[in-house]
Amino acid sequence: MDCTFCNIISGKIPGDMIYQDRDLVAFRDINPATRVHILIVPRKHIESVNDVSASDQTVLGKLIITAKKIAEHMGITDSGYKLVINTGKDAGQMVLHLHVHLLGGEDMKGGGLC
Ligand code: 5GP
Ligand code: ZN
Repeated sequence: MDCTFCNIISGKIPGDMIYQDRDLVAFRDINPATRVHILIVPRKHIESVNDVSASDQTVLGKLIITAKKIAEHMGITDSGYKLVINTGKDAGQMVLHLHVHLLGGEDMKGGGLC
């Protein structure tokens, strides 16, 4: 299996790392859509939200808590930010390894649904 995010997690390809722990990594998106655009990724290869199970509950909770901590670190808590999880083809999910987009650092109002 050749998964871009597994390759970043293992160090096989470089990533601009922001945060790492036992369960998660976070790195800057290679093609940022906003001034702050960070991907928060479980180390475990889970393809999408469609593939999560009860055993992933702790890690999934940690994804949101870590997003909040990174938003604080980036200084965007007061201005606001979006957390986006694209799931499947209609959502345009390109990398089939579950990830949360942390988007912020600029005015994103008027951007439609996401
Ligand atoms: P998706 O549409 O799957 O939710 O978003 C995947 C995101 O991963 C995109 O925003 C894309 O720019 C980013 N991405 C794809 N390949 C790489 C890569 O090799 N490195 C990094 N840092 N980001 C990537
Ligand atoms: Zn993977």
